[in-house]
Amino acid sequence: MTTTAETQRSYVLEASARELADHRAELRSTLDRRRRDAETASTSATDGHGETEHLAIAEQLDNDARLDAMTRAALADVEAALRRVELGTYGICVECGEQIPEERLELLPATPMCIRCQTRVEQA
Ligand SMILES: [Zn+2]
Repeated sequence: MTTTAETQRSYVLEASARELADHRAELRSTLDRRRRDAETASTSATDGHGETEHLAIAEQLDNDARLDAMTRAALADVEAALRRVELGTYGICVECGEQIPEERLELLPATPMCIRCQTRVEQA
């Protein structure tokens, strides 16, 4: 027999899982698009630009690399969360094993930890 609270929670978990799958698709297409843009940029960069333009392009590539790293990190979080969905451990804190509150999962579907553990890890 399931209680109303459990039913409510399973709805939230399902909704979060769907959101994670959407987010993963989005992050993957962002990375793909950026890879294609980077290829175009590096081809045109060798095509008779002045020194200043070279610097501007190098700076742009640097920014892209940072953005890329951020997108990859976000994608890794989302993929790890989806793996927990498959394993049936999604919504459970990887640190302490307590249930992560629904409000937190709705806000941060990819989070692996409850607020208490997250705070502890960030302060460590
Ligand atoms: Zn925890």
